[in-house]
Amino acid sequence: MSARCLLCARACPVRFTKGVYAIHRCAACDLEFVWPTPPPEAVEAVYADGYFSGDGHGYRDYFGRERAQATRKSTVRLDALDALGCRGARLLDVGCAAGFFVEDARARGYEAFGVEPSPEAQRAWSEAARPWLMGDLDAARAHGPFDVITAWDVLEHLPDPLATLRALRAMAKPDAVFAVVVPVIGNVNTRLAPATWDQYKPPEHLWFFSCASMRALLRAGAGATVLREDVAWSRDARWVDLEGTSRAPLTRALRAIDGAAHRLARAVAPSLTVDSVAFYAKANDER
Ligand SMILES: [Zn+2]
Repeated sequence: MSARCLLCARACPVRFTKGVYAIHRCAACDLEFVWPTPPPEAVEAVYADGYFSGDGHGYRDYFGRERAQATRKSTVRLDALDALGCRGARLLDVGCAAGFFVEDARARGYEAFGVEPSPEAQRAWSEAARPWLMGDLDAARAHGPFDVITAWDVLEHLPDPLATLRALRAMAKPDAVFAVVVPVIGNVNTRLAPATWDQYKPPEHLWFFSCASMRALLRAGAGATVLREDVAWSRDARWVDLEGTSRAPLTRALRAIDGAAHRLARAVAPSLTVDSVAFYAKANDER
């Protein structure tokens, strides 16, 4: 077995390494990926207890402090789905974590369900939401077929996102909407100095899509055409003290310059400053 592109099957050379992981690139598809695929135990260790609440991988306090942030994200994403005429639809949120988006979608009138395999996240499910939330796709299938399938910050984590999209398509109506958010390459960090982009984080993230390669993946996996793309996240500064927590005067001064340069670049060449994009795609061809 060699490193072959998920989309075009060409052999792909290593672009750079991060720790023990090699990141390969298909220049034709603008797709990057970790190869060899990390062993299951390395991936499972990422999602052990503490992923949603610890200081290592993942989230610092997903279930508490980040609830308010989750609601703000839900509002933006539900507004986009409403604008595509989806309101009231039967929706499946894949990788739903604590189920916040499912709760927010229900409050908006969607018939929403969620799937989340992490036991830590499942323990945070509210009693009210529990009947709509499941541990695996097989359990969710009984609630389909779905009009809308969402996967927020999920596809980059999966061993085979093409196979997962194909499985999801089989649970969806022929004209279903697929909505995903992923980190995207193409910004100035990924172009010039990939080690400085914090979304290159194997084995937590295994796939690194551009807007072009995500469009191709949605076409290949879900038979879906992208109707709408929104910037989901463009960081405040690109190179210096990304968390903005330093109190050292020199660091703060350099970060201010970095932030100003970032805002200027965003006005002049926006694609160089984008870290994450939301894609809304509609399935539209015969099976
Ligand atoms: Zn390719």
